[in-house]
Amino acid sequence: MTALADILKRQIATTGPLTLADYMTSCLLHPVHGYYTTRDPLGAQGDFTTAPEISQMFGELIGLCLAQTWLDQGAPAPFILAELGPGRGTLMADALRAAHTVPGFHAAAQLHLVEASPTLRREQASRLSDHTPTWHDSIETVPDDAPLFLIANEFFDALPIRQFTRDGDGWRECVVGLSQGTLAPGLTDPAPQDALAHRIPDTTDGDIVETCSPALAITAAIAARIGGHGGAALLIDYGDWRSLGDTLQALEHHATADPFANPGQADLTAHVDFEALAGAAAAFKTHSKLTPQGVFLERLGITQRAQALAQRLSGSALQSHVAAHRRLTHPAEMGSLFKILALFPKGAPPPPGLNS
Ligand code: SAH
Repeated sequence: MTALADILKRQIATTGPLTLADYMTSCLLHPVHGYYTTRDPLGAQGDFTTAPEISQMFGELIGLCLAQTWLDQGAPAPFILAELGPGRGTLMADALRAAHTVPGFHAAAQLHLVEASPTLRREQASRLSDHTPTWHDSIETVPDDAPLFLIANEFFDALPIRQFTRDGDGWRECVVGLSQGTLAPGLTDPAPQDALAHRIPDTTDGDIVETCSPALAITAAIAARIGGHGGAALLIDYGDWRSLGDTLQALEHHATADPFANPGQADLTAHVDFEALAGAAAAFKTHSKLTPQGVFLERLGITQRAQALAQRLSGSALQSHVAAHRRLTHPAEMGSLFKILALFPKGAPPPPGLNS
C-alpha cells in the first residue's frame, strides 16, 4: 500500500468517489508522490521504453522531417521549436543533431520544453544545454508570436481521461471509490452526456468510450499558434481514429499491472483518440493528417538510414540495431498501433512522410 493510496482513500471517504481523470492526475503528477514527479520511468531499469530510447533513428528522422517542413514554409526566423513531455531529452537531442545539416535551422530555433517532472527536467537540461531551453508547465506559456514547430511523443497518452459505459440513451461514468477499504473502480448511475451525443449512433449498451478534455485544450492551443503564424506539429502516440473500449493501462517494470493497486508506482496511460484531436484543431486554419508510424518512418527513409548505420556494427550491436528497426516499423510491433497526427497550416504542404 502506497502513501498516495492512503491520501486518496481519505479523500474519497470525505468527498466521495473520484473521476478517473482526477485519479490519473493524482497518480501521475501528485507533487510529492506522483509517478512522474518522483522518477525517471524510462529505459530497461524503468517501467517502459519509448521510440527515441529504442533507436537514434527515430529522433533523427523526426528532426529532418521538421527541418524540411520549416524549409517548405520559407525557413522563418526566429521560430519556436517545442516539445511536449520530452522525457530524457533524447528525441530532441537526436532531432537537433540531424537538423544541424540544414543551414540556418539551429540559429533560428528557440527551444521550449513543456515538462511537469522536475526529475526529467534535470535530464533534459544535461542533454540539451547547448540549446538553452526554456521550460514551461503548460503549452499556454509557450510564446505565441512566431511560427511553432512542435513534437510530442507519448505525451497525450499520459493525459487524464474520463471513461463512460453506454446505458440506454445515457452513460455511466467510471469513478474510483472504496470497496472493503481498498481503491476500486465503479460506475455511476446513467446520465446524459452532452459531449458524447455524437457517440450515440455508433455505440450500443455496454460499449465504453473515453474522453480527454486536456488533450483537446492543448491541441487547440497548438493549432491556434500554427494557424496564426505557421509551423507544424507532429503528435505521435498509440491510439485510433475513434475511441472505443477500455484502454486504461498500468505498466510497472515493463509488465501490465492493476491500475488501482499501487497508485503513484505504475505508469498510467490510455489510447489517444486522434479524431478528437483533429476535431479540436479544425477550428484554427490548420489541416491534419494521420499516418501509422511504420509507414511514416519508411517514407522518411528509415530502412536506408538503418542500412547505413549497420555498416559500422557487428555481433550483438548489429542484432539489436536490426531488432530496433523492426520494433519501430513492423505492424505487429509499434508500426501500426502508433500513429502520427500532423497539424500544418492551410495552404502549406504537409510534412514529409504524411503526404500521400
Ligand atoms: N517523449 C518522451 C517521454 C514520454 S513519457 C519519450 O518519447 O521518451 C511522458 C512525458 O510527458 C514525460 O516527460 C512526463 O514527465 C511528461 N508529462 C506527463 N504528463 C505531463 C503533463 N500533464 N504536463 C507536462 N508534462 C507531462
